[in-house]
Order: sequence, then structure tokens, then C-alpha cells
Amino acid sequence: MTETLSCYACGETYHRDERARCVCGEPLWFEPDSSGFDWKALPDGPGMWRYESLLPVDAPVESTRAGTDGRQPTGIGAGAGGTPLVRTPRLDGLAGCATYLKDEGRNPTGSFKDRGSAVGVAAAAERGRPVGTVSHGNMAMSVAAHAASADVPCVVLVPADISAARLRLIGQYDPEVVRVDGDYGRLYERSLELGSELGISFVNSDSPLRVAGQATTVLEILDEFAPDVPDAIVMPASSGGHASAAWRALRDLDAAGVLPSIPELHFVQAAPSAPIAEAYAAGAETVSPTDGGGTIAYSIGNGDPPSGNRALTAARDTGGSVTAVTDDEIRTATAAFAARAGACVEPASATTLAGARTLAADGVLDAEDDVVLVATGTGFKEDVGRPDPPESPTVPLDELGTALADRLD
Ligand SMILES: [Zn+2]
Repeated sequence: MTETLSCYACGETYHRDERARCVCGEPLWFEPDSSGFDWKALPDGPGMWRYESLLPVDAPVESTRAGTDGRQPTGIGAGAGGTPLVRTPRLDGLAGCATYLKDEGRNPTGSFKDRGSAVGVAAAAERGRPVGTVSHGNMAMSVAAHAASADVPCVVLVPADISAARLRLIGQYDPEVVRVDGDYGRLYERSLELGSELGISFVNSDSPLRVAGQATTVLEILDEFAPDVPDAIVMPASSGGHASAAWRALRDLDAAGVLPSIPELHFVQAAPSAPIAEAYAAGAETVSPTDGGGTIAYSIGNGDPPSGNRALTAARDTGGSVTAVTDDEIRTATAAFAARAGACVEPASATTLAGARTLAADGVLDAEDDVVLVATGTGFKEDVGRPDPPESPTVPLDELGTALADRLD
């Protein structure tokens, strides 16, 4: 198990509890030793814990039941990851490449956030500390759910104007919810300070524990393709935490010598709030904050991404890109995921299809390319980005046969 944190930018290393960010200002991540990594030697799971050897905490398994061989999955953390990767041929025409869906909506709380929460909450439980997060969306629900299951006290900091619907979704897991009146964007830094003062483990968007867990999304994708690799992986980008985690996974597997080539990492942002895409397009070395205008892809509306520079570096290092797509393009893609692939995804996830389409139109991807679209969260939580209800005439029961025959004609 790794205890070392490192900085991708300056190479500085730290012990795991020493700092949340590097002295150079950039985010840290865990530096696992992947030298002995072998696809064939991995345990069956549970879920993301198949990659326990690359994670900074032990798998949530017990040997309480006879015949479970010491790996009885325990708590909701054991249910994180292990999500399906499926070919989605009906999306190929729209995307302009051979598409695969990595369905992160199948996690316990419906988003990829469960991978990071599982690791963050397990680490807090090991240390007997409360856990906290700054979120009013998927991450808040996820941390609260994992904390509930592990019996770890949990604090969720939300904006004062949070909607009642969101508050109910988070509140059902019974965390301490604190509405914060003030600049919500400043809370990221403030929570790190308060975390060290009060002994709360804040598992924010790009905290090293969260990034370690979220690396398993790409580990699973590459596991499915092994010994080959997909040509590209397309993911939404917001804080840059998941994007960084994807790069971390590629670096670790590359160091282990199990990748015949490095898949391109393409990140997609919503145009109204796309600071990383803007920096990429401008050829800039660093990401500058934007005002972060509203977008239907609310999960990725982050105008000041704490791991933005790292995500930018990840895209360039892998020969990938950072693209922005409009809300209209996102609506079209959200509808297509459902109507052509049977997948109810949130608008943030649909940016992957819209982004692939843009990249194919620009000649970056082509019809022969195997491209994984990482749908980071389910669309079942909120009625956002869905098309209008379909035309559905009311038919008298005794005319139903005729009506159905007409409709299917
Ligand atoms: Zn550094």
C-alpha cells in the first residue's frame, strides 16, 4: 500500500497526511508502486477493489461468513466500481467513431464519485476521523452514503440557495448538512484549512484519496481491453480530478509495462463554463478562472478547477485534447444516449458523445477508432436535459389493436 504523495509538476514528494497540495501550488496524488502489476494476478473484486494493490486503503472485505475466503464485500464501499463497459453501435453514426459506453451510473449512488468516496471514507474510518465534502450534487450524495454505511460522521457544505430537491437527495443519507452563505468558490481552500484545524478529512473533488479511487474507472476500461487498448477515452472535465485520475491510471499501467500504446485522453467541458478547454485552445500553460456561466451540465460547471492545470497536462501528454460543447449539443447527445443506446445519462455525461462528434468532425477521431465514452452519472436523479414528452395519443381500449398496428407500420 502506498503512503507517498507526489506532485506531477515539480516532482516533490510527501507523506500521505502531510499536505493537501504541493508547496508549488499544484495538487498531489498517490504514487503507487505498479512495478509488479499483472492483469492475470488480480483478485475478482469486489468491484473497483480488484485494483487494491494500487490503492492507498485496504478493500472493505471481511471473513465473517464461512466460504467467503476472507473477501465478503462489506458496506456500500464494496459496491463501488465494477461498472459495465458495452459497445454502443447505434451511437457510432452520431459520434463518427466506434463507441463504447462506460456506465458509471451503475455505481451505488449513480455516479463515478462513489469510487473516490469509497477510498476517502475508508481512509477516514481507519483514522477514526469524520469525513467532509464541498458539494451540492453527486459528490455530496456519494460521500454521505458511504459515510452512512461505514458509520463515519459526515459534514456536507452546500450553498445557502440549494434547491429543496437536492437537499432531499443528500439529506436522505443523514449527514450534517451546513448551508454556507458566501462565496461558494472559496470553500474549497477554506475546507482544507478547516480540515486540518478540526481533524475532518475533506474528500473534495481532487483530493489525493478521491483521485486514487477514481483512477479505477480507467483501470477497469483498460482491463476490459487488455492486452489491447482503446484508441481514445472521452470524459467530462470539471475540477480536473477525474481527468487527473485517468492520467494517473495510464501512467501506472505504462510503468508496469502492460500497455502496448497510450490511449488519448480527450476531456470535454460545457462551453458556458470551460476554462480548461479555453486554455487548451489558446495553447496556454495554465488555466485561468472564468466566471463559470450556467449550463444544463450543472455537474461540470466549474469556473475555477483546482486540478485544471493537471488535466491540461494530461490531455497534452497523451496526445488528447480538451474540447467545449454547447448546451444544445449536450441536449442532442443526452437524447441520443437514451433513444439510441438505452442509457439515461445526466447532461454532463452526454458531453462525451457531443465531444466525440466534434473531434470526429475535426478529423481527430475517425470511424475506425475504438472510443470509450465515460458516462459519469445517471440521469435518473433529476429531470434535467430530457427531451419533451413524446406524442402519445389516448386510444380507447377496444381500438387498441388497430392503433398499435398503425403506430408500428
Ligand atoms: Zn509541486
